[in-house]
Amino acid sequence: MATKKQCKICKNRIDCPVLQMSDKVGRKFFVKMCISYKGKKKMTKTCTKCEKRFPATLKYFGSEKRVSDGLQAQCRDCCRQGLALYREQHPERIKSYNKKYFGTIKGHLRRIYTGMKQRCNNPEYLRYGDYGGRGIECRFTSDEFVDYVMNILKIDPRVLQIDRINNDGHYEPGNIRFVTVKENANNRRNNIKKVNNGC
Ligand SMILES: [Zn+2]
Repeated sequence: MATKKQCKICKNRIDCPVLQMSDKVGRKFFVKMCISYKGKKKMTKTCTKCEKRFPATLKYFGSEKRVSDGLQAQCRDCCRQGLALYREQHPERIKSYNKKYFGTIKGHLRRIYTGMKQRCNNPEYLRYGDYGGRGIECRFTSDEFVDYVMNILKIDPRVLQIDRINNDGHYEPGNIRFVTVKENANNRRNNIKKVNNGC
């Protein structure tokens, strides 16, 4: 009987609940992995550039803490080649980074804008579920955002974090403000207020 086929991972022939599927003709066939392993862990990952398949470990992919699986999209070799190419093609951009551009108000706002865009549009991003997953959009372009903060809000945001006034609203003119790190931590939806009873 075909049910005694071996699972490729746990090597179990008898008790393993092998995932069973049937094709259009009606023949039954078996998926290589048994059901107890399905969805538990991503064993391999495909590089988005060279499209080769590697084990999903830090040996083959660089670390990227902001995405859900903790690994970069491209393999280490492709990253190295890409960076070398970028350095060759845009020497003036590398120079501008070295001038501490991100310490200026404008540079700081560009960096905040990148984070905002990622949270709203990139499903791989670690906190996407709290932003884009809830339908929150970023309704600025990069230039509009810098212009809005510098000319309408008129504040120096360099020690502050961005916050939305209405938590279910979008990132749009009239719904953003800048608060301190402490205020922002107190504003979270899952925040539990501790009451000190004096004992
Ligand atoms: Zn690659």
